[in-house]
Amino acid sequence: MGVTGTTGTAAVIAAGTWSAGTPGGQVALLPACRACDPTTYVPGGPERTVVDRPEVAADLLVPELARRDRERCVAAFLDTKHRLLRIATVSIGSIDHTFMAPREVFREALLVNASALVLAHNHPSGDATPSGDDEAVTRRLARAGELIGVELLDHLVVGGRHWVSLARRGVW
Ligand SMILES: [Zn+2]
Repeated sequence: MGVTGTTGTAAVIAAGTWSAGTPGGQVALLPACRACDPTTYVPGGPERTVVDRPEVAADLLVPELARRDRERCVAAFLDTKHRLLRIATVSIGSIDHTFMAPREVFREALLVNASALVLAHNHPSGDATPSGDDEAVTRRLARAGELIGVELLDHLVVGGRHWVSLARRGVW
């Protein structure tokens, strides 16, 4: 299996918050990444990762989407202190326009009692540029999350190892 871009460091842009800074970056993909298991896993240990900025979310989520040939949406579900509860695939691209439907995205969030989440989906083309649809869907998901008390912190669009943060683009 071909692996590109394994050199260099994972974080290539300055750290910041959800709402400031450059809108994207890239992640160094390791050959044996967690993406081998496409379903879910629960990170162990009492010191769980605090997902407080897009770079952290990208390190967690981009490998889950690496080398996928179909659109897939994954989520990092977080507790009230934005510590990682679980990563799960919440939607897989289909032709019937249900990709990233709110009921799919938030079902798991409610099951794990998440207070917040970060989404990421891939563009199999490798181009991480968000589409108009991506922005519209994200606004809908943010509103849905507000209603049920699960805050959408960010939505990363991933192309290859590049990603763009819609929160930093000020999409909602
Ligand atoms: Zn997209």
